[in-house]
Amino acid sequence: MLTFPFPRPEPGALTRVADGLLWLRLALPFTLDHINVYLIEDNDGWVVYDTGIGDQATMDVWEGIIKGELGGKPLKRVIVSHYHPDHIGLAGWFNRRFGVPVSATLGEFLTAQILCVDTNTETFANVQAFYQGAGLDLDGDQMTIEYTSGYRKRLSPLPLRYSRLIDGMHLSIGGNDWEVITGGGHSNELAMLYCRARNLFLVADQVIAKISPNISIFAGNPEEDALGLYLASLKMLRERVSDSVLVMPAHNLPFYGLHERTRSLELHHDLRLDALLDFCRNEPHSAVDCFPKMFSRPITNYHDRRFAAGEVIAHVNYLYLRGQLTRVTGGDGVERYRTVA
Ligand SMILES: [Zn+2]
Repeated sequence: MLTFPFPRPEPGALTRVADGLLWLRLALPFTLDHINVYLIEDNDGWVVYDTGIGDQATMDVWEGIIKGELGGKPLKRVIVSHYHPDHIGLAGWFNRRFGVPVSATLGEFLTAQILCVDTNTETFANVQAFYQGAGLDLDGDQMTIEYTSGYRKRLSPLPLRYSRLIDGMHLSIGGNDWEVITGGGHSNELAMLYCRARNLFLVADQVIAKISPNISIFAGNPEEDALGLYLASLKMLRERVSDSVLVMPAHNLPFYGLHERTRSLELHHDLRLDALLDFCRNEPHSAVDCFPKMFSRPITNYHDRRFAAGEVIAHVNYLYLRGQLTRVTGGDGVERYRTVA
């Protein structure tokens, strides 16, 4: 059983989760209405792990905390787990406003940079073709907005310099050793931080209690085995990280029970894979046809439909790449999958 040692704090409130380790819950303007970020005390200052989204409300919360609860100690570094806007959103602001250096993996920082500058109309056409292949007819106007400014407007401009994190690297923070562990599937090279001596583990979105991290395929890398990468990372975490750690995720509550949670996430995906194989056994189906087999709630709005298509494709890619599904493109341009007998 997972256990949750801390109650849910109010947005903007700091909770001390261990000596020299603070948890800050920040509001988000989405259905997923909050993100957890963390501060590690580093002798005469603080290291920030993830920043919140790049909006004024989040900056205001940080300004208040830096002047108030952090006791005037400076921020020494921002470590960004991955490129999603709720994690990297204020990295550039911290860098410019306070002169704080920013660390991230190459895979995450470059992805953020590319998404900030790519307004190429060819990219848009490629995205449209990708979703058409999934059987999804998306509102072209909404897609244009999203693919020309949707990502960039949720971030303060990225810092011009960053320092690269690599899997297996060790950082000394506050006299403690923190190992960088990277995982794929949810994003390219998500950086987690593990303090073995103190049983503390910052995981961002890689392992979350109660919700399953989004594992999606996007138009720029349509053949990717994102689910295979994700499942491999769950197995790797059981091998490299003790089961007794306090897991500190970016959403929901910190918890104990890392290994159990990785196994239940594996089971969740196994059940979805089995459901798809059953569904596609007698006749071929598109990604959109598969929505009711993967999701219990109706998928209606633009964002949900786009994310749902990406998630289904992550699962069909997994099966296709392992020879368990065939894929045929119809005269209508839609790709349909059939279970191999
Ligand atoms: Zn994320």
